Amino acid sequence: MRLIDGRAIAAGITARVAAGVAALGRAPVLAVVVPTADEATAWYVRSIERAAGRVRIECRVVRPAPGDLRSTLAALSAEPAVDGVMCQAPLPSGVTLADAGALIDPAKDVDGANPTSLGRLAAGLPCFAPATAAAVLEILRHERVPLAGARAVVVGRSTVVGKPAALLLLAEHATVTVCHSRTADLAAECARARVLVAAVGRAHLLGADHIAPGATVIDVGTNPGPDGALLGDVDPSGADHAAALTPVPGGVGPVTTALLLRHTLAAAGH
Ligand code: NAP
Repeated sequence: MRLIDGRAIAAGITARVAAGVAALGRAPVLAVVVPTADEATAWYVRSIERAAGRVRIECRVVRPAPGDLRSTLAALSAEPAVDGVMCQAPLPSGVTLADAGALIDPAKDVDGANPTSLGRLAAGLPCFAPATAAAVLEILRHERVPLAGARAVVVGRSTVVGKPAALLLLAEHATVTVCHSRTADLAAECARARVLVAAVGRAHLLGADHIAPGATVIDVGTNPGPDGALLGDVDPSGADHAAALTPVPGGVGPVTTALLLRHTLAAAGH
């Protein structure tokens, strides 16, 4: 089994973004709205800031006061100097992702949070897909995994990862099955997959019984483990017979960040 180097894939993407920014002749602006104080979010936002700085994208981290999230998103969406807007979960109680996302102009919706973006994705129209779901496809393309006609199983049906990943796989002509917490026999469904995408949020839920020999396994999960370790949804010790696996950390995460930057450059008109 080969471990897929997400950091190397991300480096390739960011090099191309840096060239695009140079050609654009100005620094695109990405506004990252952080409505709640959360340790994992803070770590992720710092990684976006660092990656943006390396490609000369200006990352503005905006921390709205309680109750100001909606007006902040609307104002950033309307501000001509801002190219991309994303809103980090967790959201304050009483605000749904759909509520917050709907306030982001689809042209600036670099993390595909506006329900309009998901609708356009489903309709096969141009849009920004959620960066994590886009990262799944980016990795599969980079690894030249055949998708047309291939049986793909996505475990997880969230609006941010599972559903858009399934739509993107479908657009590549894969035969897609989406599993979730009510799926009757998860292991049997997964074990039929040539491409297995785990987006569950349960540490090491998927093991040897869930993986077909020679499958390509994309592990989106990021779960807190003991001693601050980050664990995926897939138990790597059960994946020896897979063809390839994305590690956690160092797989989907860096590619997600790189795609946020690529989307921001695209929103800036390049
Ligand atoms: P989520 O909204 O909690 O969705 C989890 C999905 O998994 C749901 O569809 C749920 O089914 C399903 N599920 C839960 N337990 C299950 C079980 N025992 N068997 C089968 N399905 C089960 O999570 P999310 O936001 O999609 O995130 C998923 C994971 O990806 C998390 O670990 C998150 O931290 C990670 N993530 C990583 C990145 C990255 O860049 N690497 C970005 C975003 C998220 P129901 O719909 O039936 O409840």
